[in-house]
Amino acid sequence: MNRSKKISLRLLLVLPFILQVFAAVTLTGWLSLRNGQKAVNEVAGQLRTEVSDRIKQRVFTYLNDPHLVNAVIAEAMEEGLVDIKDLPALERYFWRLVDKRIVNYLQFGSAEGNVVAVERWKDNKLVARYRDPSTAPIREVYSLDSKGNRIKLIKSKKYDPRTRPWYISTVKANGPFWSPFYSRAATKTKDPVVATSPTHPIYDKSGKLLGIVHNLFEVGQIRDFLASIKIGRRGQTIIIERNGNMVASSKIKQPYIVKGKKVGRINAVDSKDPIISATAKYLFQYFGNLKNIQKSHQLEFDFQGERQFIEILPINDGRGIDWLSVVVVPESDFMEQINANTRTTILLCFAALAVASILGIFTSRWITKPILILSQASEAIAAGKLDQNVGKSQVNEIDILAQSFNRMASQLKSAFSELHHSKEVLEQRVEKRTQELKIAKESADAANQAKSEFLANMSHELRTPLNGILGYAQILSRVKTFSEKERHGVGIIQQCGTHLLTLINDILDLSKIEARKLEVIPKALYFPSLLQGVVEICRIRAEQKGIDFIYQPDPNLPEGIYTDEKRLRQVLINLLSNAIKFTHQGSVSFKVEITQKLETNSQYINFQVEDTGVGISSSELEQIFRPFEQVGERCSRSEGTGLGLAISQRIVELMGSKIQVTSQVGVGSSFNFEIGLKLAENWTQQLSINRSQKIIGYNGSPRHLLIVDDRWENRSVLMELLKPLGFEISEAENGREALVKAKQQQFDLIITDIMMPVMDGFEMLKQLRNDEDIKHLTVIVSSASVSESDQNKSLDAGGDDFIPKPVNAEDLFSLLSKHLQLNWIYEENEVEFNSIISEDEDDDALLTAPPSEDLQILLDLVQNGLLLKLSKTAEQMGKNSDRYLPFTKKIAELAKQFQVEKLEILLQKYINLEKS
Ligand code: ADP
Repeated sequence: MNRSKKISLRLLLVLPFILQVFAAVTLTGWLSLRNGQKAVNEVAGQLRTEVSDRIKQRVFTYLNDPHLVNAVIAEAMEEGLVDIKDLPALERYFWRLVDKRIVNYLQFGSAEGNVVAVERWKDNKLVARYRDPSTAPIREVYSLDSKGNRIKLIKSKKYDPRTRPWYISTVKANGPFWSPFYSRAATKTKDPVVATSPTHPIYDKSGKLLGIVHNLFEVGQIRDFLASIKIGRRGQTIIIERNGNMVASSKIKQPYIVKGKKVGRINAVDSKDPIISATAKYLFQYFGNLKNIQKSHQLEFDFQGERQFIEILPINDGRGIDWLSVVVVPESDFMEQINANTRTTILLCFAALAVASILGIFTSRWITKPILILSQASEAIAAGKLDQNVGKSQVNEIDILAQSFNRMASQLKSAFSELHHSKEVLEQRVEKRTQELKIAKESADAANQAKSEFLANMSHELRTPLNGILGYAQILSRVKTFSEKERHGVGIIQQCGTHLLTLINDILDLSKIEARKLEVIPKALYFPSLLQGVVEICRIRAEQKGIDFIYQPDPNLPEGIYTDEKRLRQVLINLLSNAIKFTHQGSVSFKVEITQKLETNSQYINFQVEDTGVGISSSELEQIFRPFEQVGERCSRSEGTGLGLAISQRIVELMGSKIQVTSQVGVGSSFNFEIGLKLAENWTQQLSINRSQKIIGYNGSPRHLLIVDDRWENRSVLMELLKPLGFEISEAENGREALVKAKQQQFDLIITDIMMPVMDGFEMLKQLRNDEDIKHLTVIVSSASVSESDQNKSLDAGGDDFIPKPVNAEDLFSLLSKHLQLNWIYEENEVEFNSIISEDEDDDALLTAPPSEDLQILLDLVQNGLLLKLSKTAEQMGKNSDRYLPFTKKIAELAKQFQVEKLEILLQKYINLEKS
């Protein structure tokens, strides 16, 4: 299981929760900050406007009041209500105004140079200044009592009002006016102040200047007022002239340089206060010239990384005052609280986040713990631990889940135990059945074994008498003195015996097929000699039946091959025998071809047997390969067992192929199979004997054979077969006797049976091979026990070869010639016959020919090309009279070889001979 790619439930529950809280808190914080800033901007704007308006109003009042007093006095003077000529009265009038604190200073300077002034001093004492023509050019200063009466002269000094700046500039302005700033130095009597004088000119009705009245305005009043306005924590205000010179500042007490009576001005740009200086610079930079400012403006600028809000407002009284009020507030004054709030908000956010996370973790634990327990329990169940019980949960749904899980687990447990139980029951049953089957199998095996043993014994028992029958039939067939009839009788005995033997062999093979014990054991062999042997046997049979036998081997057939010789021969002989058996006229042809299929080290070979016989109907084609199935006419069935094809098919199947058949009733049949044969190099060529010729002896000294068999009939068969050929024969009835004889006499070869009383063949072989004196002796085992295991056993025990009983004479001769290197002598007639075939025509005269009429018939047949008929007719003549047999055989042979020319010459020669 790949856990790495999967998310845990806990994370799934907590993460979205925390993310949501975080997003909500962050958004709220951001919005509050943004709204706070917006509100600050608005409030800052409103505040600045309000403050500016207040300043403007108050400054107007400050500036207006002294001018109003001036105007009232001037009006009274012009109207004649106050006589400007009566200077003492004027003094009295001024004293009243100052005493009543309408103003603190009042002075009138006439066009003639007279002066009347009343002034309040620092100690609240009032003084009067006076000049008339009597005192001129001196102005006298008197202290006044509380009733306004002069107490004493304090000071006398030369003074002419008409030379004073306020007088001169007012005359010039031709109306109410403000004097430039000046300083009144500090004395005992007065504080140092920077002041300006509001003046008012007085004219008579003709417009002639009578004098100028003025009082005093202390600029410090404006400063005090400005300082009293609280704008934030660090907000400040200044009033400047249009050129930038400072008039008043909420922070700086004297924004001028005072030298005696002179007041030097300081431009705001040069102020020591950094904010004032920066603000002024920004204003000049923003407006270029401050004279251009006609209305109020709200501005912002950055100072040392901090935003500064500005409101600038013109103050103009129409009497020469043309100032600008400037309010400067740093943003932080407003933002401080908001920033503090923001910080609080952020802290709150984090706190909320932390609380949410902790809560999330706890809730998720709360939820996931039972789920975790559930999942562990289910894993445990999956691992086979069914005993699981999950505890209760506070969460309703999970509790339901847990309860369901518990129910499921208990059901599963009971289901499993039931399953276990039924499994046990089942196992017991299976065991019982197996036991039963075992017993059944054992009994079946035993039955099978019994059957095999029975068959083997039967085969053995049948073979022993058959050995006698067939052996003597062979011996008798060699007797020359027999008449044709006797010979025919011996032939029938031989045929029946052979039939019986085939039957026994087939039944043994069939039982092997059923027991699945039929095997093919390939060995290296010389292929042409195998084919030749088969062809020889079948040719003889075909000849006897009077049908043509055509053998067509591929010229490129391999020499050495690996195959089970016995089994391949069995199949071929079966197919060829069937073909000959079911063909009454025409021919049987046997083709052996190399097919195109290529494989390294092996060759595919197609064997085909074709006949012009009775054929098989298509409905019966299927049946013929089944055991004991015989189809077609009843008469031909008696000859067979119906086992041949079934066995052959099985053998070919073991060789990896299948017999194919095509057939047409009345036309003929064709059987073929194609097998792959491995090529061999180390093959041993079996010495073949000439089966068509009768052996009558051998060259060289006589050979001494020992025949070991407990049954006299078997010994007798071998004796009768071999003695006439010139062998010396000794006999023994059992192994012990044989061993004794073998040590006493010299033997060239021993032929022994296996099953014998006293000492069987195996034991004899064992002792013989262990005996230094006789161990070299060649021993051929001859037994009626023909099973492969018996054959192998005999070879393993030390036998040199094996020959089954009933003994086939030719096979025996072949084995003898192999082991004794014999040079056979064949019957005289046959030699002559062979010499004709081998084109030795000089001996032709030796043969006895039928009468010339018969010869003429044969010649006609040759000349008409009826060779088949010719050979049959010739054979018939041979059968009719033994004397002509060599001659007719020769004719038939030449006919089969299509030797038309030779036949004509030969027949003509004999006809001529008889005629002469
Ligand atoms: P049998 O011993 O009777 O020949 P086989 O198994 O060899 O047994 O053959 C089974 C049957 O198949 C035969 O009885 C015969 O009816 C039929 N059969 C086999 N070969 C041929 C053939 N070449 N021509 C016609 N019929 C054949």
